[in-house]
Amino acid sequence: MQAITVKPMTPGSARLEDIPEPDEREGTVLVEAIAVGVCGTDVEIVEGNYGWAPPGKTSLVLGHESLGRVVDPGASAALKKGDLVVGIVRRPDPVPCPNCAVGEWDMCRNGQYTERGIKEHDGFMSERWRIEPEYAMKIDRSLGLLGVLLEPTTVVAKAWEQVVAVGQRAFWEPRMVLVTGAGPIGLLAAMLGTQRGLEVHVLDRTDSGPKPQLVRSLGATYHTAMADIGFEPDIVIECTGVGQVIADSIHAVAAGGVVCFTGVGSGGATGLQPIANAAARGVLKNNVLVGSVNANKRHWYKAGEALARADRTWLAQLVSRCECPANFAKALARTPEDIKVVIQFADV
Ligand SMILES: [Zn+2]
Repeated sequence: MQAITVKPMTPGSARLEDIPEPDEREGTVLVEAIAVGVCGTDVEIVEGNYGWAPPGKTSLVLGHESLGRVVDPGASAALKKGDLVVGIVRRPDPVPCPNCAVGEWDMCRNGQYTERGIKEHDGFMSERWRIEPEYAMKIDRSLGLLGVLLEPTTVVAKAWEQVVAVGQRAFWEPRMVLVTGAGPIGLLAAMLGTQRGLEVHVLDRTDSGPKPQLVRSLGATYHTAMADIGFEPDIVIECTGVGQVIADSIHAVAAGGVVCFTGVGSGGATGLQPIANAAARGVLKNNVLVGSVNANKRHWYKAGEALARADRTWLAQLVSRCECPANFAKALARTPEDIKVVIQFADV
């Protein structure tokens, strides 16, 4: 079967090649790939900056934002042939740490977790893949191709859960949310904010392309400069990882507010003085800055529910481009018009 593989830490090694059928040890459920979304992590892996091959192998099948159709459910009573499923990405560490031991692999303490398509487990960019039944999430059939958005939605489902958990340390009635960044994560975070009945504002530097309209059609407000937002958000979901935006978010958040970081970036202000100033503001305003990564099964379930009740026409606009597997390099090269690019292996 064909698969998109990469030799981790070797730039330019990604290719479409023939590999053996998926190993039965990867799971009793056999799935035919429909589509796999591409994100910044895939780009990092292909550029040779991230990623680990499975033990004893030199190459890794890429892809962690999956959508597939069950070909053989094996002994699973919960799955049927033809069901649409998405594969959970992370597996608990083998030690396990206390969090992995209770199913919170997203909160893994020792970093020995593994991840499909990223860390020591083949991913989903192959014509067929196998998975353990407990890691195959069945999705609402009416989502069709839009099921490929489940994995990024799990990331924001967890981020929202973290925000609420932190906010509830005191009396808290949040009303205004600022989401920084209008990429797939930012837009899905904004969608979950509107589903919670909050007043949502989204900040992104671009004033053209599909992003402003996508934000407005959610009933949210679009801004292109932090100086123009004109309010103190109760919640900031930070999705850019850009130093200046992070600093501005900490500055803008209301007293008692929560800033949740979901973006990984680097750079910006140097020296310790800005950090000390930010900490002082945090103290005086009872702010919490909380980082959030990955998702456990509860978040996958919640994300599936959120997607199932989302407007399909709006979600469809997030999938801005579909490429065939042979064009994977084109899929990895983002254009300003792109929101989420997917590599499509088969029709839904
Ligand atoms: Zn762990």
